[in-house]
Amino acid sequence: MQLQRKIDQLFIEQQRDWEQLRAGTEQLDHINVKEFNWGNELKVDIQFNPSRIESVSAKVDKSNIEKRPCFLCEKNRPKVQSGIPFLDKYIILLNPFPILRNHLTITLHSHVPQRIRKKTGDMLTLAELLPDYIVFYNGPKCGASAPDHFHLQAGLKSPILMAGENELRSCLVIESTSKSEVEERFEDVYQYLHSRQPEEEEPLFNLIAFVENNRYVLHIFPRKAHRPRQFYEEGKRQLLVSPGAIDMAGLIITVREEDFNKIRKEEIVDIYSQVSMPII
Ligand SMILES: [Zn+2]
Repeated sequence: MQLQRKIDQLFIEQQRDWEQLRAGTEQLDHINVKEFNWGNELKVDIQFNPSRIESVSAKVDKSNIEKRPCFLCEKNRPKVQSGIPFLDKYIILLNPFPILRNHLTITLHSHVPQRIRKKTGDMLTLAELLPDYIVFYNGPKCGASAPDHFHLQAGLKSPILMAGENELRSCLVIESTSKSEVEERFEDVYQYLHSRQPEEEEPLFNLIAFVENNRYVLHIFPRKAHRPRQFYEEGKRQLLVSPGAIDMAGLIITVREEDFNKIRKEEIVDIYSQVSMPII
């Protein structure tokens, strides 16, 4: 619990000193969420969160990324932002535009591309040290708004974020009391997904890791598209939804009130079917 306590303390200090974090946290307290159900078992929540507009609509192609200063590099971060070291190579930072309670960004010190393959052990170690949290990873074409700088994210657990497989989208579940077994089985899945998308530098997926009942759990959401067709539509047909791990789990973030109001069940089913890759 040591690390969780340090993070709680950091929240107290940073909310006192950092106006942007205070505002973001207060906004999350009053956020609008609506729920769609399919029978008793299956539900998706829609969150209306205008502060995420930049992240959801971020231009993450190579030329746009190269043009902007990297907001995860220390020299470009707000002076008031402080953090907690993790494994001598990361810093745990508080996200001023939260979608979850206690939303954290865990940033590698080095400016290296978003690739998880050799870092799932770090992700599981963090999940172990933060038993009240889920830790998540968005691939460079699956929701990461900084695909050029390796980072993980985390937030407090809630049932929808830990839901696992359902009929709307694929989710492969790896579960074990042994961290190294989870890593080995992830490597097998990685190789399989790589064989399905050999042209990609990293196969498309999102990950959610957590520890529950002393077991390491890793949810893998294989993807076949970065964004759904509706993202690129114009006028009334457009829905600005750009799914990352949290959306894939079942909490879809909308950044415009019109989208929050108009999104229907059929579109939710359609969006998942466009971005999730079926696994046979
Ligand atoms: Zn950077």
